[in-house]
Amino acid sequence: MTIKELIETAKAKNTNIDEEKIVKAYNFALLAHKGQKRKTGEDYIQHPLITAYRLAQTGMGSKTLIAALLHDVPEDTKYTLKDIRREFGKEVEFIVSGITKLGKIKLRGRKQEYYLENLRRMFLAMAADIRTVLIKLSDRFHNMETLDVLPPKKQYRISKETMEIYAPIANRLGIGWIKGGLEDMSFQYVYPKMYNEVDKMTKEKYQERMAVVKKFIKELKKVLKNEGIEVLDIHGRAKHLYRLYLKLKRHSMNIDEIYDLVAVRIIVPEIRNCYETLGVIHKHYLPLIKRIKDYISLPKPNGYRSLHTTVFALGGKLIEVQIRTPQMHEEAEYGIAAHWLYSEKKTFAELIANKRKKERDNLKRMKRELTWVRQLRKWQEISGTDSEEFFKSLRIDFLNDRIFAFTPAGDVIDLPEGATPIDFAYEVHTEVGHSAIGAKADGSPVPLDYMIQNGEVIEIVVQKGKKTPDIKWLNFIKTSNARMKIKDVLKKEKKFIF
Ligand code: MN
Repeated sequence: MTIKELIETAKAKNTNIDEEKIVKAYNFALLAHKGQKRKTGEDYIQHPLITAYRLAQTGMGSKTLIAALLHDVPEDTKYTLKDIRREFGKEVEFIVSGITKLGKIKLRGRKQEYYLENLRRMFLAMAADIRTVLIKLSDRFHNMETLDVLPPKKQYRISKETMEIYAPIANRLGIGWIKGGLEDMSFQYVYPKMYNEVDKMTKEKYQERMAVVKKFIKELKKVLKNEGIEVLDIHGRAKHLYRLYLKLKRHSMNIDEIYDLVAVRIIVPEIRNCYETLGVIHKHYLPLIKRIKDYISLPKPNGYRSLHTTVFALGGKLIEVQIRTPQMHEEAEYGIAAHWLYSEKKTFAELIANKRKKERDNLKRMKRELTWVRQLRKWQEISGTDSEEFFKSLRIDFLNDRIFAFTPAGDVIDLPEGATPIDFAYEVHTEVGHSAIGAKADGSPVPLDYMIQNGEVIEIVVQKGKKTPDIKWLNFIKTSNARMKIKDVLKKEKKFIF
């Protein structure tokens, strides 16, 4: 990797690149790390260069790339954050200091504590500036790529940490390539036996399926052309090995039940073309009814959007087809980072101020994601010193899969899986929570401990003037938000001893 390659890529992906400053940062890092080598024997500068390069590929702006180039300087060289501030300004210093703080956690005390502390720091850094975490993820990605030079014990520890902390965070931020890559790279070190088994089991199958999919793509191209569908791209995509392993576990390790081992991916210009394409495909190929998924109307919790369908093709072979627009594709790969494309704006207000049409279309979704970042801050504030409680709630709210439910007015409420109407009510408003006496899901009455399903419209029946929650609710609610608000009232009324 060279600085020239970095600049070229950055410019190709982002029109707003400050070449001069990036080169200056490179030279600064080069000087600071002079004489240092990586365990692989390479010059140290290769590491920050590659860390920055990956971010350039996702279209990140100058300040992120500068901070990525400098990310190991305060920790590993004689130069300090002060030097960085003097040369590159306050904002770059802030990002780099965030990374330095993340790096300072050393394996100390009980394992569990270490894990929690890591998570906590990640969240706090994320709430302060997401760019810090993006750089940290890219940094980890390269460290995983060069893991084979480390002793086995370290390989295991780093991989486990990658799988338990970094990959879930990449997933939550919706950055597909980082999540998939980190999981696959750690898979072989954390579960070497399973890795070898799955690898062996799938090698042949992959080739076999890829051949089938290629044949199907050829046929599908003609079909879509005849029906007048404009296709920007159509290709086969192989499932990541670790994801495949998890799926195999759910299917008693029977690979013949995995229909999306290799899937067909179709990219079309607009959202309406996605539905048109789906229609045409269903006209020509019989779909498996249970596997038609509309993640455009109902995005996955991490923001993923696409249409999925599994059809009988080529005389009865089941093949999964995924249909999306270029924008959805970009978001699936780059996640929250996609919102920094062509801009380096940090706050929602600034993003709104930027009135480019594409961004306006995206406003609602962005708002949801940024709400989530704000939530991190809130958690930090309410957690106080009781870290155990804080982490327990964080892990439930943050790492588990999320569902989306709607208010009758159409507002989206983001909830953890297993959430109940009471969780929903407190998410809407504290008063709604306190005064809840009943609930409806899609118009039908449900109990207050009902498990809300993704996409349901939830209506809360309230009793005007009721200000006291039911102590029994504590037995089934899932969100820390509801728990905190219920306990607050009960504490005041001394109905509950803590
Ligand atoms: Mn590093």
